[in-house]
Amino acid sequence: MAPVSIRVRGQVQGVGFRPFVWQLAQEMGIRGRVWNDAEGVGIEAAGDRVEAFVLALGARAPALARVDAVEVAAFAGDLPEGFEIAASRGRGAETRVTPDAATCADCAAEIRAPGRRKGYAFTNCTHCGPRFTILHGLPYDRAQTTMAAFPMCAACRAEYESPADRRFHAQPVACPDCGPRLWFEVEGAEQPGDPVALAVAALRGGGIVAIKGLGGFHLACDAANADAVTLLRARKRRPSKPLALMGHEPALQRITRLGEADLALLRDPAAPIVLVPSRGALPDGIAPGMASLGVMLPYTPLHHLLLDAFGGVLVMTSGNLSGEPQVVGNDEARAKLAAFADGFLMNDRDIARRLDDSVERATPPMILRRARGRVPGTLPLPQGFEGAPQVLALGGQMKGAICLLKNGQALLGHHLGDLDDALCAEEFGKAVVDYSALFDHRAEVIAVDAHPGYRATQAGRAMGRPAAEIFHHHAHLASCLAENGWPLGGGKVAGIVLDGTGLGPDGTIWGGELLLGDYLGAERRAWLTPAPLPGGDRAAREPWRNALVRLDQALLAGWADELFADRPVAVLRQAVAKGVNAPLSSSAGRLFDAFAAVLGICPGTQGYEGEAAMLLEAMAEEEGSTLSFALQDGLIDPVPIWAETRAALAAGVSRPRLARAFHQGLATAFAGAARDLVKRGEAAAVALSGGCFQNALLHELTLRALGDVPVLTHRVTPANDGGLALGQAAIAAARALRRAESL
Ligand code: ZN
Ligand code: ZN
Ligand code: FE
Repeated sequence: MAPVSIRVRGQVQGVGFRPFVWQLAQEMGIRGRVWNDAEGVGIEAAGDRVEAFVLALGARAPALARVDAVEVAAFAGDLPEGFEIAASRGRGAETRVTPDAATCADCAAEIRAPGRRKGYAFTNCTHCGPRFTILHGLPYDRAQTTMAAFPMCAACRAEYESPADRRFHAQPVACPDCGPRLWFEVEGAEQPGDPVALAVAALRGGGIVAIKGLGGFHLACDAANADAVTLLRARKRRPSKPLALMGHEPALQRITRLGEADLALLRDPAAPIVLVPSRGALPDGIAPGMASLGVMLPYTPLHHLLLDAFGGVLVMTSGNLSGEPQVVGNDEARAKLAAFADGFLMNDRDIARRLDDSVERATPPMILRRARGRVPGTLPLPQGFEGAPQVLALGGQMKGAICLLKNGQALLGHHLGDLDDALCAEEFGKAVVDYSALFDHRAEVIAVDAHPGYRATQAGRAMGRPAAEIFHHHAHLASCLAENGWPLGGGKVAGIVLDGTGLGPDGTIWGGELLLGDYLGAERRAWLTPAPLPGGDRAAREPWRNALVRLDQALLAGWADELFADRPVAVLRQAVAKGVNAPLSSSAGRLFDAFAAVLGICPGTQGYEGEAAMLLEAMAEEEGSTLSFALQDGLIDPVPIWAETRAALAAGVSRPRLARAFHQGLATAFAGAARDLVKRGEAAAVALSGGCFQNALLHELTLRALGDVPVLTHRVTPANDGGLALGQAAIAAARALRRAESL
């Protein structure tokens, strides 16, 4: 076959693609060259087996690579006798950085075998190791990472320079002679002895150890030791929010029921925390009232060594003060975590980027927190967005995340936390500067939520350019469309958007909506009958407040008096009657709270956002009946469910059965209305979005009730406000394209 030039596009830099091409060329007797440039990887090749060579580029690509396209053209220039890795061409502003990747099987074996890296906690190669968390800037090479402080020794350099080695151009390559060092310290003093053994001794003794990881510090303790768990919760002042766990696979098998899909997700190079069914073998304090546990596999060599020596399962919760961002610096850790930790497992490699662990579910597939291992991955924009301007979208308030659009790709940034917290708001500001610099992004359009009180909205308005203001639930809908590659001209869809809060175009707070629309606009076709939020924000923290107003609406004030006899019911009713601090809302999140409180779940102050709803989901029975909402003139009205619930409780129906019936009723009501829009030809599909769809039961029941209509769901971006910025960006881009068209 004649010589060809080949263009490979996708995530093909910093993942060992050039040595892979080099090795393939050796194997197939190909001569030519390969190089990196702004567009990805370029190849010029000649030989009898060029055709097979081209096919293998996509089919046999390295683990961390993602090949989007392989384009082949005739080539007439000179080629060398052998095959060479040529110098990079140009300074590619598009050069992509891959996310951090869990220790690969080869490296995991190497640290356990005799050799110079036996027991070395910072072993990595081209197929694994830190990436985004050690990066200061582009291009991605060692000088631009926190590994710059560790000059390579001769042995590491030889590996780094050999195309046949799996460490060829692995920027963080290191060994005990030249790389980062591990130590264990107590009260600021380094302790003599093997740091891993010392940490394990502290953990076995019921102590709490702060461990420096990839994107921040964790606080660890023995998950099987109820006293240690209680101590950790008391010190962290975190009464009930579930704690994440880490263990080797056999240890995780003993405490959870792992399906095939769960295992596949756990073993993904992103190594997220995966929510899986619990066997109930651990102390209840790990995840009070929950039917599932958040577990992950070791993802650094340090984790492997620690778990080898420890043997069991460790609590690995983020090292921070409640609500604040995770601690990253050594001095910061000493200052902030001293009150929590009995010892520190430290190292001298700096963390350039703070990144939490990602939280995901395999069944049904969803991502609840998008962070380490997933960013800075990009999503291709759907058809019709060609020529869109560069957009910066700033997201929501409770789960901050930003999104950048450029050259047909969307980059949804990492989870930034609750922007009500001053330090999280500061992180938000840094993320905007950081991502913009990293991706050479010059925003032509700024997109923000329409809520004037959100910090992100205020930041966007202060940027000195006109900001596109986008209604919260329209952004949720568009986020689901964009993730699913729904074309710009793809027609309208029915969006079931269920969440806690968000400003609607009528000035009230929305959250239980059936929208009909696309990227350019959306109208509300059905919604939950609104109820007041007595006390405003306090209504989101105290479920009984929502139960009171819903029962009063259903003319069951007497029952509310009985249920909440110990609470200031009269004061609240007065405030509602006068309309004092009691804004109307169609929030589905608050309806969940109300129903939970009526069943006696968490009626007072919730320990964390969403606790009552999560407990209600956890309690629900596997199969059961339904509670019927009333449907009239676009209103999906919960009034009838309360009397039905009261009668059922009086008749001895169990709370788990009623919890299930509530989910079923809500799913049936919204799915039925959405299905009608599709059947009438007004909508081409149904999209599910909003934080309530993190509830796996509601998700499943809604899918079942929708039956055979096409459905779009979130799988790789969060349905919650962590995915909001993607929708904002898509809407702003669509509007800009429409304006340009009409000029
Ligand atoms: Zn490796
Ligand atoms: Zn070395
Ligand atoms: Fe939302």
